Amino acid sequence: MTDFIPFAIPDLTEAEVEAVVKALRSGWITTGPETRAFGPEFAEAVGAPHAVMVNSCTAAMHLGLEALGLKAGDEVIVPTMTFAATAEVVRYFDATPVIVDIYDHDHNISVEAVKAAITGKTKGIMPVHFAGQMADMDELRALADAHGLFLLADAAHAFPASYKGKNVGELADITAFSFYATKTMTTAEGGAAVTADEALSKRMAVMALHGISRDAWNRYRSDGSWFYEVVAPGYKYNMTDLSASMGRVQLARSDAMLARRQEIGAAYDEAFGALDEVEVMPLAEDRSHARHLYVLKLNLDNLTIDRADFIEALKADGVGASVHFIPLHRHPYYRDRYSLAPEAFPVAEAAYARSVSLPIFSAMTDTQVKRVIEVVTNIIGRHRREEV
Ligand SMILES: *Cc1c(COP(=O)(O)O)cnc(C)c1O
Repeated sequence: MTDFIPFAIPDLTEAEVEAVVKALRSGWITTGPETRAFGPEFAEAVGAPHAVMVNSCTAAMHLGLEALGLKAGDEVIVPTMTFAATAEVVRYFDATPVIVDIYDHDHNISVEAVKAAITGKTKGIMPVHFAGQMADMDELRALADAHGLFLLADAAHAFPASYKGKNVGELADITAFSFYATKTMTTAEGGAAVTADEALSKRMAVMALHGISRDAWNRYRSDGSWFYEVVAPGYKYNMTDLSASMGRVQLARSDAMLARRQEIGAAYDEAFGALDEVEVMPLAEDRSHARHLYVLKLNLDNLTIDRADFIEALKADGVGASVHFIPLHRHPYYRDRYSLAPEAFPVAEAAYARSVSLPIFSAMTDTQVKRVIEVVTNIIGRHRREEV
């Protein structure tokens, strides 16, 4: 039996190990020089003037909503095809995540669904750049501007990515990234909120560390003073230098890691693109895809097994797989709290029933890629529904 191919593992080299050991030996293990250097490097890499480095994408989105002034009772429009974090941060404010359907071709938020969901209470839209391909930002921007709404993008999948020649960090008012262990670059746990708005950036930085004003901090710290001022009840979301030291190496390797994921994605597209039993998700011509996830959609009418059985068969043949995502409207909390019926999300429902995420991580070997292709092709061959 050949080794099991996991769904995702981080791509870490001796360079990351050495960087973290160096940070450990420096004596400065939490927020310090490495985090201060990483922020501007990451901001530049995503095309934004300011970056606030934090300990998760969830924290980045929470800080973003706080800086944008979200209040109890406000509404924020969120796609159903996302991870829990996108909606839960809206709940932190006792505001309402208005959950809407997606498009079939890219699983991104449906602009028509957003339009239909706007009310007098709507304050913003949170597009999720699904799998690493950006949502329809021009159309969302036009809607947001027409109704005075903010755009806070969940770009947990979308580094590096671009849209009509613009970098991923240039398009929303605030864009949040994740450096979780399985994302396209990692700091173990980590995240960033980027923006072109200096005031938003300052507010997020203050709230990321107990509401301590940086102005006072900088003013007094340089002469060794103990003095600081708390200007708001902030949070504890700062990034550590252990994480930042790892992140700086990952950032420097991110183009090479992207190139590897692109190779894997292209190999899958070629192997599966012509099969009647599955559908590969198309790449949009006007945007570049981070290839964080590879979602294969089963044509269930042409197969004798369902998606759950397909994943079991992959596992039995030594290939890890996953599903992105169990839509928010199916989770008990959102379903019951907002009385969400599956019929209100026909596109996401259909996509959910037939989606399988295959391994696509930059540390994958050619042998592993070949084996995933063989295993998927064999399972399809064994469970093809014959024409009658
Ligand atoms: C991973 C993920 C998050 C959360 O990222 P953390 O850094 O773990 O907080 C948010 N949104 C989406 C779409 C994700 O996939």
